[in-house]
Parts: sequence; C-alpha cells; structure tokens
Amino acid sequence: MSQSGTIRKNTMHTDISPEKVFRELADTLANSNKTNFFEVLIERLESILDVDHVVLAEVINRGREARTLNVRSQGRTLENFTYTLSETPCGQVGIDEPCFFNSELSDRFPNDILLKQLGAESYMGMAIVSPTGERVGTLCILQNSPMTWADIGREVLRIAVSQIGAEMERHKNEKRIAELAFQDRLTGLPNRACLQDYLYEAVANSHSTQCAVGLVIVDLKRFKEINDTHGHHTGDKLLVAVAGRLKRLSGPNVFVARQASDEYAIVDTNASQSRMRTLVEQIEVMFAEPFGFAQSQFLIDINVGAALLPHDSDTAAELFQHASIALDEAKTQGVGQCIYDASMAEKLYRKHRILTRLTSAIREGLLEVHLQPQFCIQTGKLHGAEALCRWTDDELGVVSPVEFIPLAEERGLIQELDAFVLRSVSEQLIEWRQRAKKFPGRMSVNLSAQQFESADVVEKLTELTQLVGSHAFTLELTEGVMMRKPEQALVVTQTLQRQGFDIAVDDFGTGYSSLSYLQRLAIQLVKIDRSFIRNIEESEQNRSIVTAIIAMAHSMGMTTIAEGVETAGQMELLKELGCDYLQGFHLGRPVSALDFEQAWLTS
Ligand code: C2E
Ligand code: MG
Ligand code: MG
Repeated sequence: MSQSGTIRKNTMHTDISPEKVFRELADTLANSNKTNFFEVLIERLESILDVDHVVLAEVINRGREARTLNVRSQGRTLENFTYTLSETPCGQVGIDEPCFFNSELSDRFPNDILLKQLGAESYMGMAIVSPTGERVGTLCILQNSPMTWADIGREVLRIAVSQIGAEMERHKNEKRIAELAFQDRLTGLPNRACLQDYLYEAVANSHSTQCAVGLVIVDLKRFKEINDTHGHHTGDKLLVAVAGRLKRLSGPNVFVARQASDEYAIVDTNASQSRMRTLVEQIEVMFAEPFGFAQSQFLIDINVGAALLPHDSDTAAELFQHASIALDEAKTQGVGQCIYDASMAEKLYRKHRILTRLTSAIREGLLEVHLQPQFCIQTGKLHGAEALCRWTDDELGVVSPVEFIPLAEERGLIQELDAFVLRSVSEQLIEWRQRAKKFPGRMSVNLSAQQFESADVVEKLTELTQLVGSHAFTLELTEGVMMRKPEQALVVTQTLQRQGFDIAVDDFGTGYSSLSYLQRLAIQLVKIDRSFIRNIEESEQNRSIVTAIIAMAHSMGMTTIAEGVETAGQMELLKELGCDYLQGFHLGRPVSALDFEQAWLTS
C-alpha cells in the first residue's frame, strides 16, 4: 500500500458523511439484482467505505473453515479460497457483536498468512446469522491503517450482514428447490424432469459423438397390490430397494432415474442393439433375487420396454414414446420384455384409430348385428341364434369383434354396444312376429363383464327386452365374467333367471372354473368352446373332455351346445356323445337378419 493511497483514504474518510453512506448503501441494496448480489454489494461496500479489503465468506466444515464468496482487495476481485478459522480474526467473531481490532493485526494473529499478504493492520468482522440463529458466514473489512470511521463501519456492516443473511438463505432454499425439482425424494434417484433434461442433452450430444442413445423403461408388475396388501410403508421400502439395485447399473454412460411411481428409466449414451439386449438381461437378472425386508420376501416381476436412437427414433421425445410403446407391448403380450420395432407403433396407431371411429360408429348406429343359427343336434332343426356384432368402417374396412370388443371394453363403450345389439334383435324379433315368421328357440346375446357387473343390470336388461319378453333371450357370459365376483354373480344370475332369461356359459373350458362351481349359479346352458371341437375327431383327449362336460352338465340339469362345428364328422361325433345343440360354419355362418330370414325362417 503506497503512502499516497493511505493519505487519500484518510482524507476521504474525514469527509465521510453518515447520511451519504447509508443512502448509497440503501440504493445499492434496492438496485442489486439477485444473480450477482454478493459481487455488487461487496464492491459497493469497498467504495462507499473506501476500505482496502472486503471479504465475504461462508462458514463450512461445521464451523472449522470458511470459504470466500467474494473478496475485494485494492479495487480488484480476488479468486475465492478456503481458510481455517482458528488463529484468524474471523475465528474471533461472535454471533451478536462485531469483532474489531484497530491495530497490530499481524502481531495478534501471527499465523494468519493472508493478513500478512494483504498488509492489513485493522479488522472489523461481523457474523452472518441464519434465521435459526446459526452462524453461516462472516463479512469483514480490513484496512492497511487504523479505521478512523469505525462507528459508521459498524453500522454499515450490520445492515449489510442482515441483507447477506437473507440472501444466503434464499440461495440455500433455491438450491434445495432445484435439487427437489430434479431429484426423487423417496429414492434419491434423478426424477422424471431430470431424466427428460438428460435425455434431451444426450440426444443433442449424440449428433456430434455419433453414439447411439438407448432408453430402457422398467415397470414393476403388481406394485399396487403390494402397496394395498402390505401398506405404503412397505411399498416405499421396496421402491427404494429397487432403486438401490438399479443404481448398480450407473456408470460413465449409463444414467438411472425414477420416471414414475413404479417405473424406472435407464439411459445408455453409448448404446448399440447388443448393448441394449445385455442391459435388459442384466436388469432381469437383478430381479431374479427376491427383495427382503420386514421379515418378508418379495419376488418382483417386471415389464421392460426399450428403444434405440437413431436406430428407430429421431428425437428424445420419440425415443421416450417408443420405449413406452415397447413397454406396453411387453405388458399386453405378457412377454416381460420388448425392444421397440416399427410394427408396434402401427398396432398402437390402429388401436387409436379404431377407438376414435368405434365411438362414433356406436353413437351413430353404424354397427350391424348378424345372426348365426343354432340347431338341435338330434332333429337337425333350427333352435335359436346367436347375435354377433359386425362393423364395417368406411376407412378401416371390416373390423373383427375379436379386435373391437376388447377395445370397447377398455374404453367403457361396451355397455352402449351391448344395449344396441339387444335393441336391434328385439326390434327384429318383433318385426318377424308381426309378419308371422316363426323364430324357434331363443336369441342368444353376449353380455360383457361391465354390463353384467353394473348395479342396474337386471332393470336395464328387462327394459331393453320388454317388448319381446325376456323368455325370448339367452344371455351368454364367459366363465371369467362369472368368476370375477362370485357372490354377486350368484345373486344376479338367479334374479335374471327369475325374470325369464336363460343364462349360458360361453367358451366353456377356456377358464378355470369347474362345472360344480358353476352349478351354484343359475345356468341353463353350457357352450363348449370351439377349441375342444376343432380336433375332436383326432384328439382322444378332447373327446374325453367333451364327453365329461356333457355328462356333468346333464347331471346338473344343464343342456349343452357345441360351438364352432365345422364338419359333418364333428357333428356326428357330438350327436353320439349326446350333445344337445350345435352352432358352427358347417350348418350356418353368421349372416344378416335378412339372409337369416330367407335361409331359416318359415312362415
Ligand atoms: P363368441 O360369443 O364365442 O362367438 C362365437 C364366435 O365364433 C363368433 O366370432 C363366430 O363368428 C365364431 N364362429 C362361429 N362358428 C364358427 C365356426 O364354425 N368356426 C370358427 N372358426 N368360428 C366360428 P365373432 O363373431 O368374431 O365374435 C367373436 C367374439 O366377440 C364372440 O365370441 C363374443 O365374445 C364377442 N362378441 C361378438 N359380438 C358381441 C356383442 O354384440 N357383444 C359382446 N359383448 N361381445 C360380442
Ligand atoms: Mg357368444
Ligand atoms: Mg363362444
């Protein structure tokens, strides 16, 4: 420090006016923006007080050390550094009062090298205190000569320190918020937002590095069940344990995140098809071992969907979408894992198109009902028909009920569809009656699970069929539908039977129910599934199954109908086995009401 500098300062300080100092400080605080608050404030303190050095430091390492946030010395900003607090004047600063040494600083703190380097002779420091009363930092001013303006300095420091404290707290909160925004609280893994950022960056980088990016999504099967049966606490523990295992995959090119409640994502920034397969295998191996805690062992099944960029995706969003489609496919196919290929997107696209068009087709009454005749096996005479829904769409062409019925169920459209079918056949039966066309037997209609389980099913069905009467109908229900809520099924089938409906078990033999269980329900007819009839002539096993079904059904007072009879041989065999009725392409395919009338009805 030059002699002239000191003189200049001293002259300045004798002129210093408290009003001016505080006004300037207030202006500074009012006008500083949040991004460089410390920098601006420290620089202003230096110039307002015209002091040689200003140091702002935060306390770290449980109060043992301090790390500077901003240091001004002789008009320059120094690089930040860390120093040990003991044996420095900063170490003497108390929580409430400033620490002030106006002379012989280096004699008092002989081990403080910094003081020597700066040439400081006087020191005034004040603690920065957090709202909880903890010391979080120090603000100090140092002068290469005694401070002649200590009183003003003390007040300025006091004001500055309180502002800095608030600002440090804000910084800390912001940092925590940023962490929270990108970190999953439960598992500590990066969260979905972080994953998205990472993926976008990885994809952007891949253009220059020419490395492929792979994304694998892992979904825990039946996690909800574990949550429901063992409680959320156990569910949470499991999620943490899964995160712990998956974290082992992390490496220079592999990033693991929790992407949704029971979904995790793994990004590989140096991917290839073979690496993806290996990664998926590694993940599967990780889940081969059960997770054990709280005296329970949980063997967790997973679904895995994966996709690769640029192999089959162009953008991060597309990569994500494709991995999700692959996951969907793994779920629906029940195969556990699936790597994306273009056919999956087509399937999904078709599904969406069907859903949108089906909704309007149902509402606009564009569906049709075809009728397939049913016959008495002994006499060969017509004995009723099954109503089957048909849909020919202008754009999609003919769509099979095997495709659209499950979608209608998924979308909650099936009740409307079933009601439409029932209304159509009722109108048809009335029309035939009016023209004295004799329709023998009953009209069978398929009933969906949603319809069967709705609270007002009996009222609804009675109302829909009231013009013809419920005695004209058989309601077909699959075993699966009847087994879902057995107690309810018992009550509903009995009530429907009392109303006059017959109940048939459709596709019998494909479910897991036994006839003795079904005996408890009010069932009149068993429809033996097509799969047993198809090779009944060749397969002795199928023949004995059909024989047993017929015998048991009869012993319980039910009649039987064979579905999917395609040949004369099958028909003869079923006749021998004592089956009551048959339905199948051999005697008649599903046709329009008009064709049905012309082929089968007599006046
Ligand atoms: P389902 O109730 O078991 O109907 C019998 C299915 O077997 C019909 O298929 C029919 O065309 C077919 N079929 C009949 N005889 C033969 C044969 O000899 N050989 C072969 N290979 N197939 C034969 P469809 O019409 O494709 O219907 C499929 C399924 O869609 C139905 O199975 C039923 O579960 C459902 N479904 C159809 N219409 C409706 C409806 O209006 N409402 C509800 N809820 N479901 C319906
Ligand atoms: Mg049926
Ligand atoms: Mg069937």
